Amino acid sequence: MSIAQNIAQVKKELPENVTLVAVSKTKPESAILEAYEAGHRDFGENKVQDMAAKAGSLPADIRWHFIGHVQTNKIKYMAPFVHLVHGVDRVKVLKELNKEAAKNSRIIDCLLQVHIAKEETKFGFDADELATVFQENPQEKYPNVRIRGLMGMATYTDNQAQVRGEFENLNRLFLHIQSTFSMHNATFNILSMGMSGDYHLAIAAGSNMVRIGTAIFGERKY
Ligand SMILES: *Cc1c(COP(=O)(O)O)cnc(C)c1O
Repeated sequence: MSIAQNIAQVKKELPENVTLVAVSKTKPESAILEAYEAGHRDFGENKVQDMAAKAGSLPADIRWHFIGHVQTNKIKYMAPFVHLVHGVDRVKVLKELNKEAAKNSRIIDCLLQVHIAKEETKFGFDADELATVFQENPQEKYPNVRIRGLMGMATYTDNQAQVRGEFENLNRLFLHIQSTFSMHNATFNILSMGMSGDYHLAIAAGSNMVRIGTAIFGERKY
């Protein structure tokens, strides 16, 4: 099947309120253009240099999502154009994002990454650290950053009950923050969870943004 057909297939399975981010990391610009010509605009990359290079030569109305681990010294290269930074996993990243956004006279949207998996190798805040961020008035501390929601990755396992449980935990945390810090309600409304292998479970658990690579572009070769 073609990329356009794969996108149509995935989209058919998504409820209307769920945004599809097509994860194009490692894929050539020609693949992105194929999806673009089929009408798709949201793409995800996990290396700042790759994303900046692609953004420089592909159509300007593409919405670039940064889904990788954020290195603070690279933020300046994406600050002029990035649409949404999914992987904000420590306060230092918020600070640097705020600084670079201000330099570009922008307000940059981001998601806080939460550590929901069993694997130690995955990144993110835990529930207590997350509460601390919100208690400390982030909209005043980081006026050029807008925290739009949460992002998480489940454990890489065949155990569906475990994956479902991890997604449900993240959804609970998301709803808890919405209700506890109600001033965020208007803009704190994105829950990014679900990839090719687990997006059905993620949507059932409340996700409204999925990040899908393999099911659209095929396997990646590194
Ligand atoms: C690569 C990646 C994806 C997409 O993974 P697929 O299994 O190819 O759909 C989603 N989210 C993040 C953070 C990724 O790094």
